[in-house]
Amino acid sequence: MTHLIMAVNSGSSSLKFELFSMPEEITLAKGLFERLGTGSAAFTLRAGAGKQQANVALDNHQQAAEHLLDTLLQSGIVASLAQIDGVGHRVAHGGEFFKDSAVIDDAALDEIERLGALAPIHNPVNARGIRAFQRRLPHAVAVGVFDTSFHQTINEAGYLYPLPYRYYQDYGIRRYGFHGTSHKYVAEACAGLLGRRDLRIISCHLGNGASVCAIDGGRSVATSMGFTPLAGLMMGTRCGDIDPSILPFISEHDHKSAQQLLEIMNNASGLLGVSGISNDCRDIVSAAESGNHRAALALAMFTDRIRAVIGAYATVMDGVDVVIFTAGIGENSAGIRREVCRNLGFLGIRLDDNKNKRHATFIQQEGAPVMVTVIPTNEELMIARDVMRVGLAPTQEVQHVG
Ligand code: ADP
Repeated sequence: MTHLIMAVNSGSSSLKFELFSMPEEITLAKGLFERLGTGSAAFTLRAGAGKQQANVALDNHQQAAEHLLDTLLQSGIVASLAQIDGVGHRVAHGGEFFKDSAVIDDAALDEIERLGALAPIHNPVNARGIRAFQRRLPHAVAVGVFDTSFHQTINEAGYLYPLPYRYYQDYGIRRYGFHGTSHKYVAEACAGLLGRRDLRIISCHLGNGASVCAIDGGRSVATSMGFTPLAGLMMGTRCGDIDPSILPFISEHDHKSAQQLLEIMNNASGLLGVSGISNDCRDIVSAAESGNHRAALALAMFTDRIRAVIGAYATVMDGVDVVIFTAGIGENSAGIRREVCRNLGFLGIRLDDNKNKRHATFIQQEGAPVMVTVIPTNEELMIARDVMRVGLAPTQEVQHVG
């Protein structure tokens, strides 16, 4: 039976959506609202070959949801709202409570809001998005898909920080990891391409935010983001792992508050902070090609860190069968992939230059022991699949044997 499923990703001033016909996995419409709450939001809707763009006076997610659903009706993309039987919401933080995607009832919504203590910018906004669609589509099942839940399989030694244990007990300070929906999607796609699930995969999600994940037999066993998405790799504007003693030092010498330090590490560091040019990898690559030293330095720092994590994660899994590159940089930059894989020949990771430049699906040399693959991520589709799996799968009849 065909279901129409909406995948929703609510940001603080944006709302992205994609309407799927499932299980055929056909996109019926997709688009986004930007600059919500500024008085003039930008609305973009694509359906088939058509594209609509408009500035609309919308203040919040509720109004955006109303506007979207009215537009879908008016343009005939859906005949009635009753046709939409599931809405999947990307939720930033599921803490230790959500170990998988989950149907959102009142208790689950309370839990998402409570977890706002760990993700103050994202979870309250995600909850707002959930309420907005629930009001207009009360018949549709709502499912939360959490950036963290895929990593709940990481073991205790992997997720604890070597701080006094009570910080974990009292405040839940531990590694949670993020980008789980993307890592899971590409790992499943890879298993599908190769027709086997018993794979040791190192997945490199390299976009504006970036993280690496070790996936053993479909389960996350290590990931580079931590208590927050600031940890791990160097990113577009985030510093990733640094010596924590730098913080009180800057605080004292450059007179910065804790909030200002967070702002610097989240928004003024990474590729932008080192290069002084841009957080956009394409700008850094072209500046480096024209001889800009700090751009070249930023790229070397970026790729060195990814390579070091790949080496570390091969030890976590006692080897590696596949390295996956995904997201904006991972999917599009042959140069970054080449640099990341440099010096990894001893692990069996050897790129074929031509296949890499062509962005072929498999880019390893003939006969190399480790496969290297470029797989476009699709978090929206993963969300729609999870709505089908946890929200709309027929309830299993209990088999009485005997
Ligand atoms: P987000 O985390 O915002 O979803 P994306 O996955 O869209 O980010 O990735 C955005 C990044 O991908 C930007 O830094 C952009 O410069 C980079 N990117 C896209 N195409 C290329 C390319 N051909 N070469 C290098 N970087 C690229």
